[in-house]
Amino acid sequence: MEEWQRQLQQIVNTLERITKYINITPQEEDAISTLNSRWGTSPYFASLMDKDDPDCPIRRQVLPSLLETENVYGVKDYLVWKENRDTEEVRPDSIARQYENRVAFTITDVCVNYCRHCFRKELVVDKELQLRLDVDEGLAWIAEHKEIRDVLITGGDPLILSDERIEYIIRKLREIPHLEMIRFGSRVPIVLPHRITVGLQKVLGGYHKVPIWLNTQCNHPKEITEMTAEAVYNLQRCGISVGNQAVLLKGINDDVDTFRELHEKLLRVRIRPYYLFYCEPAPGIDHFRTPVERGAELIRDAIRGHTTGMAQPMYVVATNIGKIPLMPDYYIMGKNDKEYTLKNYKGITTKWPNITDK
Ligand code: SF4
Repeated sequence: MEEWQRQLQQIVNTLERITKYINITPQEEDAISTLNSRWGTSPYFASLMDKDDPDCPIRRQVLPSLLETENVYGVKDYLVWKENRDTEEVRPDSIARQYENRVAFTITDVCVNYCRHCFRKELVVDKELQLRLDVDEGLAWIAEHKEIRDVLITGGDPLILSDERIEYIIRKLREIPHLEMIRFGSRVPIVLPHRITVGLQKVLGGYHKVPIWLNTQCNHPKEITEMTAEAVYNLQRCGISVGNQAVLLKGINDDVDTFRELHEKLLRVRIRPYYLFYCEPAPGIDHFRTPVERGAELIRDAIRGHTTGMAQPMYVVATNIGKIPLMPDYYIMGKNDKEYTLKNYKGITTKWPNITDK
């Protein structure tokens, strides 16, 4: 058995196991025993938790909270609405569609880490939504739809499947002539870096006409270790670019210093910041949400001009009609027929010619 399989066998999802890593609070204990919710993480990720601080950013993403029973802003049947599952187009349950030429292909509802803020929590964490995740049915649908050029393989966590299963899915997708690229959405490089084994590298690697991209989710600098760096390096040696899709989480990464450190540290381990997602209105996660403007303010105050430009993710609100980018709009102070007045991150202004179409 390989180490990643041992980690999965010893997944930390009981009071007895979690108390080996942290001094649990009465509130955390109460939430674990009261809520009917799937929770847990790898022993590796649990070992990164602060033993005594219930506000530890990793602990808050892993341990259930009684705040999940409060729901003012969460939308009922959120995933059905978000993924346009209640439309006239007949699609397999495994296919979610928001765009004409690309789809999300959900191949499992199992994760390594059951993130408390997950927008798919009705499917993955709370198990209120039952979907038939039939891989062959999804592959056949993609093959029939010639307009699909890009498939995002998602879950759950798709890299939790065996090497053989992953190899099968990639091979079948590459046989579809209209497919130009394959993407994986996986938290494995962060929560179970041991999964990037030599065997998996063989499955993913090599020169292919249809490339593989991988986007992970890292929300706090504490989640990045030497093991993360090694896993990412090994993925890149296979020709796979690794990006990050952080979620803006109240009390976890919504302050300037943490936000900048997160994005600088990602670059230090060769992960390119890609998106910053607003925490979506799935039910029971109000306590993770900030005002919508906060993400744009953080890019303005922590990243743009303050550090390497590559550290800047695109801030988006991911809706049922696609992702809507929200960027800070402080930089155009005014314009007339001749010129713009532009402001930089330090508040200094400059002039720029206004080229009209005439
Ligand atoms: S790993 Fe992804 S799908 Fe699984 S619980 Fe976390 S955010 Fe949700």
